[in-house]
Amino acid sequence: MDKGKPEMTNRIVEGEKRNSKIKRLRKLRTSIAEKGLDALLLSQPENLRYLSGFTGSGWLLISGRNAILATDFLYVEQAKGESPDFEIIRIKGELHDWLPGLVSDLGWHKLGFEANFISYDGYHKLGEAVKTKQVNLELIPTTGIVEQLRSIKEPEELGFITKAVELADAAFEQAKAIIRPGITEKEIAWEIEKILRQKGSEGIPFEIIVASGPNSALPHARPTEKTIRSGEPVLIDMGARISGYCSDLSRTLFLGKANKTFKEIYNIVLKAQTTAMEGIESAMDASQADRLARSVVEQAGYGDAFGHGLGHGVGLAVHEFPRLGLSSFDSLADGMIFTIEPGIYFAGQGGVRIEDMVVLENGKARVLTKASKDT
Ligand code: ZN
Repeated sequence: MDKGKPEMTNRIVEGEKRNSKIKRLRKLRTSIAEKGLDALLLSQPENLRYLSGFTGSGWLLISGRNAILATDFLYVEQAKGESPDFEIIRIKGELHDWLPGLVSDLGWHKLGFEANFISYDGYHKLGEAVKTKQVNLELIPTTGIVEQLRSIKEPEELGFITKAVELADAAFEQAKAIIRPGITEKEIAWEIEKILRQKGSEGIPFEIIVASGPNSALPHARPTEKTIRSGEPVLIDMGARISGYCSDLSRTLFLGKANKTFKEIYNIVLKAQTTAMEGIESAMDASQADRLARSVVEQAGYGDAFGHGLGHGVGLAVHEFPRLGLSSFDSLADGMIFTIEPGIYFAGQGGVRIEDMVVLENGKARVLTKASKDT
């Protein structure tokens, strides 16, 4: 046995991780310069993790020269371990207590911030502090800068996501065995959660949905004490997380003989999904991708019953760029990983959704999800 080998592999993996972080920072700095900013202030947890590897709570300050991670006593040691390439600053108090002084020391005048992740109160107090301390600083709202970078996955990220997809697929197949008439939605959800964790998922990336009969008409239903009955649709929406990366999987099952109408609905949803999977191409507008599936549902006469978008990007967050929907302005590109999940819902009766994850490669969608679709 060569004892040196695992250590060397670890060092190579660490080196690759640092390289990818350096590349991400380089891309971000180009965006910062293009927007005419001196620096960007970030606090969104997935953005922090993506850029620095830091999984705690804190702030990143990125300029052309600086890469600063500001955090408090609770996380400072963790930050040193997780983000060796960042300058770690230990902060005290709220943002308005420490930021104006730091920014003035660094000579920045135009600071971008994440408009979606600073509260109105936090923004207001920061503005007041900048005035009181007479710091020459302009606060510029930005949205989606790091999220755009995150939407194109690197090979290492595809690897983690593929593992999370495989884990959810395997957990789903195992859970199917316990689904029988008389068991409650909550019991099934708990079994799925246990299986996911036993198989190595880092917790669950979102609350598992098990919705049966009329409950399946609610796209974001919560599991209840309702027992499963033969013939009715059982909609399951679940995911796993590996190295921070998520997967998202939905299936609709029927116990025993499926209700005839729902069987027909199932086939329409499946056709809509297949049509989108086959027709989606890189450089296509995300709204056009949605259209591919929606037109199948519309032609079958159920357009009004498909009340949500076709899908969403998946990565460090379960819902991220791109957004596939009629009102989306996103455009699809190689390296994007997203869900294709058409659904048809009838209030008070039930619904069907089928959700797979795909990666765009060489201009076309490759399906990552392998969970069976036999109802
Ligand atoms: Zn989804």
